[in-house]
Amino acid sequence: MTSDQPTPKPGIFDIDPYVPGKSTLPGTQTVIKLSSNETPFGASPKAITAYKLAANELQFYPDGASLELRQAISERYGLNVDRILCGAGSDELLSLLANAYLGPGDEAIYTKHGFLVYPIAIMANGATPVVAHETNFTTDVDAILAKVSPQTKMVFIANPNNPTGTYIPFDEVQRLHKSLPKHTILVLDGAYAEYVYANDYEAGIELVASSNNVVMTRTFSKIYGLASLRIGWAYCPPAIADVLNRIRGPFNLSAPAIKAGAAAIKDQQFVEEARAHTRIWRQWVTKQCQDLGLNVTPSVGNFVLIHFPDGRQRTAHQADDFLISKRIVLRRLDSYHLANALRMTIGSADECRATLEALTQFMDPDRPRPDENRSAPQNG
Ligand SMILES: *Cc1c(COP(=O)(O)O)cnc(C)c1O
Repeated sequence: MTSDQPTPKPGIFDIDPYVPGKSTLPGTQTVIKLSSNETPFGASPKAITAYKLAANELQFYPDGASLELRQAISERYGLNVDRILCGAGSDELLSLLANAYLGPGDEAIYTKHGFLVYPIAIMANGATPVVAHETNFTTDVDAILAKVSPQTKMVFIANPNNPTGTYIPFDEVQRLHKSLPKHTILVLDGAYAEYVYANDYEAGIELVASSNNVVMTRTFSKIYGLASLRIGWAYCPPAIADVLNRIRGPFNLSAPAIKAGAAAIKDQQFVEEARAHTRIWRQWVTKQCQDLGLNVTPSVGNFVLIHFPDGRQRTAHQADDFLISKRIVLRRLDSYHLANALRMTIGSADECRATLEALTQFMDPDRPRPDENRSAPQNG
């Protein structure tokens, strides 16, 4: 078939462009931005120093192998450096995996409220996205296994999942892996792994080390506070690392990103503070929302999924409009099939307090305020 205009490959017009969380509002007053799971702590001062130093050498191409960063990652986790691949954000690594292994006729599975970058990567390669239902907003291994066919080439799960905040324990991940065909790649997206305290959680390092068909992806965009620099990494079986290295851009990370990432991962004290803060304020936000009569899905990440009442009053959209009038931006989730929920990133103590104050007004406009006696954790 010929056409009188350039035509992209089949599947591409089936993609709904990714819509990020809102980041600005009209006007000049400050905005409380809790819409993209960014950290309230910024980046480690050591990472910022390394970034600034790199500004003196911008005329040179970066090290195409990102070796300094891969070595720093390898030291942090005790990993084989040859199996680590860096990308411009973990989004690039997810795309590379799909580019290398998916094509027309192939299927790839993700879960009902899974990260929307997965269907984009799948359909961009003409493959067929297959959605497995979730149970209680949580990955359901049996539901995934029920969707496996001879065409299934890849299974994506974010663990913990975004936007639900739930996780599945390591024994469930192992059970999933054991039941998948050997030619199917299990992609474990650990973007929020650093935030998890649960003893039965494992991000995927062990499974990658002991199999040929598991890849773990990680990011510097969340707890490391480097979203703007675009740094992610994958831990891969050697054969998959070899394949991805053939198709990636030869200089896919900038030198400032390599330097800042390496400095950031060495500053674990900084990470530990963000981790502890997040746990305390995640509990506080959850409890305060529940006291307002809002359901909150139990989260292990740096965000919570808040469900609004069914009916025409006090819907998630109305809450979002109200919060925006107070210059507070959460994430609407219509595109995640969660139209009556909002996702709130755990921000600073002040940001959490201000958001709960506004949600209180929204839910119960007659309640006297401000409520000075509201119990709040002391840190942060
Ligand atoms: C934020 C996020 C990422 C990270 O993407 P980057 O490209 O590394 O910024 C990956 N997966 C999930 C589920 C996320 O929420």
